[in-house]
Amino acid sequence: MFKKGKINLIRSFALGLVFGGIIVTYGSFLTNSPLISGLFMGLGLLMVLLSTVVYFWIGFLSAKSAYITCPNCEKPTKMLGKVDACMHCKQKLTVDRSLATDNHSDQA
Ligand SMILES: [Zn+2]
Repeated sequence: MFKKGKINLIRSFALGLVFGGIIVTYGSFLTNSPLISGLFMGLGLLMVLLSTVVYFWIGFLSAKSAYITCPNCEKPTKMLGKVDACMHCKQKLTVDRSLATDNHSDQA
């Protein structure tokens, strides 16, 4: 479902939104119509504003997420929710034993 950790994924989404907003705003200079120009400007501004909101949201999520040590690469990574992937080696991680794909007979 996701190749990177959720936080990384959201962060790249926010970054893409900033660039998208800049490109859309730049598009407003390519037209002579003040209406279309205004539309592009508004849309570009909206995208940049939205990315700011997303960045704040990441900050909030990061503060809430748990720091764990990845069992695969032994680096510290942030975990969001019950299932996430390691930021470094993309190892899938879970805190819920029933969701683990490799659960042996050591279930309590
Ligand atoms: Zn790892």
